[in-house]
Amino acid sequence: MARKPTITLVSPAYNESQNLKPFYKAVCQAVLPLDRYNWEILLINDGSRDNTWEIITELTGSDPRVKGISLSRNFGKEIALTAGLESIEETDAMIFIDADLQHPPDLIPELVNHWEQGFQIVATQRDSLNTNWLRNLGSRLFYKIMNRFSEIRLEPNATDFRLIDREVLKVLKTFKERTRLFRGLVDWTGFKKVFIKFSAPERLEGKSTFNFNNLSGLAINSFTSYSLWPLRITGFLGLFVLATTCLSLLYMLVTQFVLGYEIYTRMAYFVVFNTFLFGIVLVALGMMAVYIGHIHTEVLLRPLYIVQEKAGFEND
Ligand code: UDP
Ligand code: MG
Repeated sequence: MARKPTITLVSPAYNESQNLKPFYKAVCQAVLPLDRYNWEILLINDGSRDNTWEIITELTGSDPRVKGISLSRNFGKEIALTAGLESIEETDAMIFIDADLQHPPDLIPELVNHWEQGFQIVATQRDSLNTNWLRNLGSRLFYKIMNRFSEIRLEPNATDFRLIDREVLKVLKTFKERTRLFRGLVDWTGFKKVFIKFSAPERLEGKSTFNFNNLSGLAINSFTSYSLWPLRITGFLGLFVLATTCLSLLYMLVTQFVLGYEIYTRMAYFVVFNTFLFGIVLVALGMMAVYIGHIHTEVLLRPLYIVQEKAGFEND
């Protein structure tokens, strides 16, 4: 009999002791009809302060499909996902899913279905945003700015609930950068992707750990790791200052010495000239930014390109 392909579910859990068992039940229910696959459930305890880890070990004891890893402290969801991904040696596809049931396990068959059709990334989009208008506004603004200035396109309302093929997985494992937005990285790889929509239910138990600080931190991190624009803006500002001061200086000189109908104090010349110098400093900063930018992309250690397919290598 041919080997059954394996699909691994990866769930980060931070203080999810109340949700884990219902989550586990829902997942078992959802994958029941998909018995043509080997299922593996990896639960990552991200330094929870409640008994999340006890529950995980209880589950690993009772079901051989369940695996758990526990991180030494709370590293945050993005890193927890990375830890999950790197601790799986061999699998055919991986599904990232929150343990708080906000990512409905019922959707798993649909994810798998699209994967079987040949999509290497099956991502999801929430169709309704959360009820917090400030968070809504923040996230809308974030995507607007991000997509305007960065090299990859982030889909609004996209979530971390997604399936990735082993090929994508292999690539993701080579990423070494420390500050990361997981779904940004997945999108960056550029593999064949499809979106599925769902509406996010309320969290089952406990409350969301992402507050304003957290989310704005994530936003700034993603912005600076996908775009060099914040660095370059100083240079452009400098050019603008240089241009305007040059023009004003010219205007002052012409009106005073050529046309002779306007007298400016020395102070006025001084101020304009000083601003001119300031412009030079800003331009210099912008220039440095370009160099720093190169270093920045270099130290991220991202792979330069990804070979998705090869032809004519069969006889190697
Ligand atoms: N999570 C984590 N580490 C953290 C914060 C959250 O592993 O530091 C997990 C959490 O247990 C849940 C998922 O990430 O499974 C999403 O977290 P949350 O529900 O707080 O975020 P939201 O749904 O509001 O985006
Ligand atoms: Mg949640």
